Amino acid sequence: MSEVTVVDHPLVARHLSVLRDRATPSSDFRRRLSDISMLLLYEALRDLRVREDSIETPLETTGGMRLADEIVVVAILRAGLGMTDGALRLIPEARVGHLGLYRDEESLQPVGYYESIPRHAEDAEIVVADPMLATGGSAVSALERIKKDVHGRLRFVCLVAAPEGLAAMAEAHPEVPIWCAAVDRQLDERGYIRPGLGDAGDRIFGTD
Ligand code: URA
Repeated sequence: MSEVTVVDHPLVARHLSVLRDRATPSSDFRRRLSDISMLLLYEALRDLRVREDSIETPLETTGGMRLADEIVVVAILRAGLGMTDGALRLIPEARVGHLGLYRDEESLQPVGYYESIPRHAEDAEIVVADPMLATGGSAVSALERIKKDVHGRLRFVCLVAAPEGLAAMAEAHPEVPIWCAAVDRQLDERGYIRPGLGDAGDRIFGTD
């Protein structure tokens, strides 16, 4: 079973409520998604390894720290793009990968159409980001793809998870921990999370 953390914080709950609201325009949606992504990643990266360092303040030498491992954020296109700005505000030194997947209408299986995974990320801390963990198809495929190249520690961060997506992840990648702001009730017949927030990509980019 995957370890699932629902980040329990009043600011996360408030941001999520605004994101769920159908009246929230794309401009606010993007900003809120960026802000809540920062908060979710902050929690998801709480156990990062650090190394001691020495710092020269203007007055004297003191002890400091640096991150022991490189951080790579992999956004699943297209909605994962809405989380990269917040991730980079939190971790400016992170590198960013992208994986594009679409669902084949006949087989209903995810098909990769674009990939850019930072080179030499073998030992990095890798955070895979996608706002909606619905059926889990894209997340499961994205993690399979990343595991082919990279042996780093993997984490998955989303905004809203459906029980069906969590079950798919637990079956395919039980060792990958998951952080989210909420676990919603269910998927509907069109694969939308209920109550959810609609199509995250459309809400970010103002399409529908
Ligand atoms: N993807 C979305 O953007 N929203 C859903 O509800 C499910 C999948």
